[in-house]
Amino acid sequence: MKAGIHPNYKMVQVTCACGNTFETGSVKKEIRVETCSECHPFYTGRQKFAEAGGRVDRFNKKYGIKTPQQQQ
Ligand SMILES: [Zn+2]
Repeated sequence: MKAGIHPNYKMVQVTCACGNTFETGSVKKEIRVETCSECHPFYTGRQKFAEAGGRVDRFNKKYGIKTPQQQQ
């Protein structure tokens, strides 16, 4: 490779919003993600409600609808 023209590809720490961290290769210093293989519903099999605390949550409370999170 020609020196000086290639980005510095190296191992970096990826930090997820769920607290999970793992390493991957990147030219960035660090990576922050909102969802990873530890917390994404596709991998966990659990439904994640991003609307909790928002409009849907208020609607559910108003009409007494329990979300799966409250039932656990
Ligand atoms: Zn995660």
